[in-house]
Amino acid sequence: MSKGFDKRKRIFDKYVSQLKKLNENNLLPDFIKYKEDCYICPICLNNFSENDLKDVSENMLTLEDAPPKSLGGRATTLTCKTCNNRCGHEIDYHLTERLIEIDERAFLPNIKAKARFTHNGLKIQGELNVDSKGNITVIHDKKNNHPEKLEKYVKSTGKNDIVDIEFKPSRVDKHRLEVALLKTAYILAFEHYGYSLILSSPYNIIRKQLINPEAEIYPEGFWTKQGSFKPEQEGVHLIASKGFEGFLAIFLLKTKSSENRFGVYLPVSERSTYDNIKRLKEQEAGFGLKMESYMMNDYFGEIGNMKLMVNFIKEKNTPQQCI
Ligand SMILES: [Zn+2]
Repeated sequence: MSKGFDKRKRIFDKYVSQLKKLNENNLLPDFIKYKEDCYICPICLNNFSENDLKDVSENMLTLEDAPPKSLGGRATTLTCKTCNNRCGHEIDYHLTERLIEIDERAFLPNIKAKARFTHNGLKIQGELNVDSKGNITVIHDKKNNHPEKLEKYVKSTGKNDIVDIEFKPSRVDKHRLEVALLKTAYILAFEHYGYSLILSSPYNIIRKQLINPEAEIYPEGFWTKQGSFKPEQEGVHLIASKGFEGFLAIFLLKTKSSENRFGVYLPVSERSTYDNIKRLKEQEAGFGLKMESYMMNDYFGEIGNMKLMVNFIKEKNTPQQCI
């Protein structure tokens, strides 16, 4: 039996049963190819049977972490191996790496960073360590430095000398980092509302962006980092403030040294996505959006809640008729 089989089977059953209910009640959009007893990968929308839970499958269903595991996330949904691997290398890596870089450059506790040190014109390699109490130590390895140069450097550097520190160049792609934030928000929406929200047409643009992380598809300015977000605000909430329509996913990203809460805008209507993001961008930091939470509702067992969600989005995307 492959790793985590029981957990993946439980998730598989929960989502397959939701799909079945949505299909029986004609709540699936026309562009969805529904196959009975199959799980639809939220990213590529391909169908996967129970056999794809086994590791003999060419493209098995794997646990998907939201936020990424390296940033304190946990797995409550599944994506296919192809999507999971691609998102890991091409998207999530940039977010994790950037947050660690910020910690390193701020010399926060619990960091370990390779850097170049310069003093009296001598440049040598070293590893900077900050322990949990904030004490800084530097290790200069003989393997990575010319022995004579290292000796000269050590002899000429005194206790209170100021040394220049140059961290290794960043490999982070800012755009992909933003796509990683979008992916976390999207998977969290899938965790809370299941297919009833994410299979709707306004989410096609998000899937397209996740599959093509290099392209600029989802409008920029859709995310914010706010010190004012509270733990109790974490979740995926409907924005209730006038002039806005959409969801705001609020989540915590945790490194060994820091904790930050992010907010990511998710759409309800294809028409209003761009305008809403533009308006959010113009808001002052710490914008006081009012939010309604429907997260306590059961979207997996109660067909009434699924219906409300599907119809709510449908209504927002029906062309308005002029009378
Ligand atoms: Zn997939």
